[in-house]
Order: sequence, then structure tokens, then C-alpha cells
Amino acid sequence: MMKYLILGTAGHVDHGKTTLVKALTGEDTDRLIEEKRRGLTIDLGFALYRDDGLEAGVIDVPGHERFLPNMLCGAGSIDLVLLVVAADEGVKPQTREHLDILDALGCQSGILVLTKTDLATPEQISVTKKNLLQECDGTFLEHAPCVCVSAKTGIGLAELRTWISRLALRLPERDKAAPFRLPVDRVFSVEGFGTVATGTLLQGTLREGEEADCIPGNHVRIRGLETHHRQIPAAVAGQRVAVNVKGGEILRGQVLAEPGTLSPSSVIDISLHMLRHTGDPLKNSERLTVFLHTGKTLCRVVLFGRDSL
Ligand code: GDP
Ligand code: MG
Repeated sequence: MMKYLILGTAGHVDHGKTTLVKALTGEDTDRLIEEKRRGLTIDLGFALYRDDGLEAGVIDVPGHERFLPNMLCGAGSIDLVLLVVAADEGVKPQTREHLDILDALGCQSGILVLTKTDLATPEQISVTKKNLLQECDGTFLEHAPCVCVSAKTGIGLAELRTWISRLALRLPERDKAAPFRLPVDRVFSVEGFGTVATGTLLQGTLREGEEADCIPGNHVRIRGLETHHRQIPAAVAGQRVAVNVKGGEILRGQVLAEPGTLSPSSVIDISLHMLRHTGDPLKNSERLTVFLHTGKTLCRVVLFGRDSL
């Protein structure tokens, strides 16, 4: 039986996330011309990681704080995260921020990866490791393995692969029998095919020829399915999927859902908790941006029974 999961990166800009993904998968996830020119990840990158009994869709996120909304678009579907820290630089603001976000999102599993060890002294490596372990105290990565690697020399990559397999096989299975749900993270058109939307199938099974609600919005038909450039008749929970759809317009942030199982709403009840490193208190009636799966929209917060948090 194949285990399907989403392997994600997290960590500060320039700490070696994209280079590590390339070393692990052979794929360069920085595909935009602007990303190549600036040597910087702007939007989510995707690759395929394989090992015995394991097929992981890799989501490489941008580390720069300015592109945090794009990180959030990918973070929601990560099962197993590689929290990447450059050994020569140590823990930085987006190391903490990404850790807090994944913790708040309920991510369950991950590996601490010290990269660029070829550029660091043994003292730097041990200081970075100590600080990182301290930073992870009280989070889901508290007892996570820590692996020292260099994407340049290849040192540590075999050990990292071993840990990925070990943790991946321990992850709970996603529910393949539940109604399908796929938050859309990219939309493009392919000549001769029409509209293609991609995303992570969070639950259920999606089949060619099926109808889907595209929420909020309209109704579409699934003309064809691919996973990592391979045509498939059906996709199961945990897979990265490209869906060729026929019907109305479709946008990042919408959710493809089994007909009649989800309905849009303009009000939601949530339990809210503030991250450790947030500055000002949150005031009642404040306007915020809400990120939900791959979508984002403006909202107004109404606190029950208090004026601020
Ligand atoms: P990201 O912003 O976290 O995705 O970082 P990148 O993967 O784009 O890497 C930033 C820079 O560090 C690039 O110039 C890489 O070539 C370099 N780099 C990444 N990993 C290593 C490593 O293990 N050793 C060395 N020497 N350089 C690395
Ligand atoms: Mg990058």
C-alpha cells in the first residue's frame, strides 16, 4: 500500500529550503522568471518525493516575510514539515513565525534540519542546534529529530531520508471515504485542455467525470486528473492533484467539494489564540485578514465577553 502525504518546508528566507528540496527530489521548485532573477522563492513550489511505499507531494514555501500570505496558502495541508535553519545563521524571525503558524494549524509531525553545515564551524552548528531545540520547546516539534545536512556536499541527506520515511509511515491515514475536498492553490489554462486547477486532496476520493461544487461559486465537472504529470482515473486523499475542470470560473482559495456537502457562510465561530510573538493586543471589532486553507478574505473579529485579547 502506498502512503500519500504532503511534505512541506518552513523557515527563514535564504536558509536553503529550495536547495534542499532540489537535493531531495531533483526538481527546482523556483519556476517563476522573477524567482530565478532574484534567487528568491515568491510563490509556492511543488515537487515529488519518493521512497519505498511512499509518495510525498512537496510544498516549498517562501521564507520572506513579505510573501507570508503565499506561505499560509500552502501551510494548511502540510503533514510533515522540514523546519530548515542555516547552521551558520541560526534561528531568525521567520523560523519562529513559521513554527508558530504550523503549531497553530495543528501540524503534527516534522524534522529540524540544520542546512549549510559545510559553511559553519562545529561551534556554530552546536549553538544553532541548542537555540533551535529551545525554540521548539512546548510546540509540536518539541521531540522532533534534528538532522545536520549540506545540500551542497550531500552530507546528512541519507539520514534525512531515513527520518522522512520513518515519520511518514507513522502519520495517520487521511480519510479516503469521506466526501472529497480540495482547496485550490493554483489555476492556469492549458492549450487544448482548458482550465486546470491544482491543490492537495485533503480528504476523500476524486474521480474523472464526477461533478463538483466549487465553493463559493458554481458547479464544475472533472474532465481529467493528473498527479505529478501522470494521468490518473482517480485521486485519493493526501495526493497533489491537477484537475482539468469544465464549467465556470475558478480561483485560488475556492474549494472543490463533493456536491451538497459544503455551503458558504459569511459568519464563522472560531476559537482564537494569539501567537507567542504577536505585538499589540487584538481589539474587539478589529478588521483582519482571515486565511482559510488556500483562501484569504477580509473579516471583522467579534470577541465574546471582552474588549481585547
Ligand atoms: P531558501 O530561501 O530557504 O529557499 O534558500 P535557497 O535554497 O534559495 O538557498 C539560498 C542560498 O544558499 C543559495 O545561494 C544556495 O545555493 C545556498 N545554499 C543552500 N543550501 C546550501 C548548503 O547546504 N551549502 C551551501 N554552501 N550553500 C547552500
Ligand atoms: Mg526558496
